[in-house]
Parts: sequence; structure tokens; C-alpha cells
Amino acid sequence: MSKPRFITFEGIDGSGKSTQSRRFAEHLQTQGADIILTREPGGSPGAEEIRQLVLTGDPERWSAETEILLFTAARRDHLEKTIQPALAAGKTVICDRFADSTRVYQGATRGDLRMMVDQLHSLMIEREPDLTFIIDMDPAIALERGLARKSGEDRFEDFGLSFQETLRHGFLALAHADPKRCVLIDGNRTPDQIASEIAAYA
Ligand code: ADP
Ligand code: MG
Repeated sequence: MSKPRFITFEGIDGSGKSTQSRRFAEHLQTQGADIILTREPGGSPGAEEIRQLVLTGDPERWSAETEILLFTAARRDHLEKTIQPALAAGKTVICDRFADSTRVYQGATRGDLRMMVDQLHSLMIEREPDLTFIIDMDPAIALERGLARKSGEDRFEDFGLSFQETLRHGFLALAHADPKRCVLIDGNRTPDQIASEIAAYA
């Protein structure tokens, strides 16, 4: 039995993270692995409450800095209550979005707060995934998918195409900065093609 792994899926909205994290979890389960599939923001009862505080209601309610503190608090709770206990129990954890999303989104919105994100991460989170799939794709197609989708489990942020391009480049930069952890996946293919490439990492 291989060592339990912490695996994350990242990429812009509509890139197929939820689809592929579900499919990879199912694939590992058919091989007999003990899996938990979780997501951010949220993933533990406390973090889900914080998610509601941040993602619903008046978008001006929190400053960019307070929002990062809330996301960091949510991630800390998710780590303490869901991720670490599962890993300690020998389970593999698959998480749909994690710290890379905060790095890219908070680094690109409402002023560049990337340094603050990194400082809070090293203080309060520290844990990096063992493996991260970054699904890269044409933002125009991702945007169409997102808009076609019914009310999703994700906040769908329609910031427009040029912003999606900025986010895409943020994810690409992370993939290039940490090639040991990050695997870049071409999302401009069918779900089956993508899932079979990812299945090779089982
Ligand atoms: P994300 O979680 O990254 O926002 P989803 O997995 O929810 O993306 O996919 C967004 C939408 O696109 C969903 O309706 C999903 O069924 C569809 N979809 C996902 N992957 C593909 C793909 N490879 N080709 C076409 N449509 C896809
Ligand atoms: Mg999703």
C-alpha cells in the first residue's frame, strides 16, 4: 500500500477541476484506496461557515486583507479538522482547490497581496500538497463552460476574459516555479482524455 497522499486540483473556473477531482477519486477507489474528496473554500464545518461569510452577501463587506485572513482561518480549520486527520488515518486526500487558488486569485484581485498570502501561509498553513494538477485551458472556453453550468458548487466569478487570462498566467507561473509538485494538464480535451492522463498518477 502506498503512502497516503495529499493531492490538489487547481486552475481557472470552468477548467474541469471538480470533474477531474471526482473522477480521480473514483479511479483510486476502484483500485481499493481509501479516499476523501474535499474542496475549498470550505471542506470542514467551520470552514464552510467562513465560506458563507465571505462568498455570500455584500462583496464590499470585507477588505481584501480581511478576506485573506478569513480564507486563511478557513484553510487552517480544514487542515486541522479534515485533511490532517484523514492523512493520519492512512487516507489519500483529494482537494478541489487549495492554497494555489488563494495565491493566484488574491495575488491578482483588489491589489497585489501575494506577499501577505505567502506570509500567512508560512505562519498558519505550511503544508503543501504532495501533488497538484494544474488544469490549463483557453479561458474563453472555460468561461463558456462556467456560464453554461447551472448553479455550481463553486463561486463563479465572471470577471471577464482578460482577468481569466491573468489568472491563467498566475497558475502557469506556479506550475513552472514548482515542477516537482505541480503537473500541468492540458484541459482543452475531452473529460475522458484528461482523466486517463491523470489516472497514470494513481
Ligand atoms: P471547475 O470545477 O474547474 O470550475 P467543472 O469540473 O465544474 O470545472 O467543469 C465546468 C463545466 O464544464 C461543467 O459543466 C462540466 O461538466 C464541464 N466540463 C468539465 N470538463 C470538461 C471537458 N474536458 N470538456 C467539456 N466540458 C467539460
Ligand atoms: Mg469546481
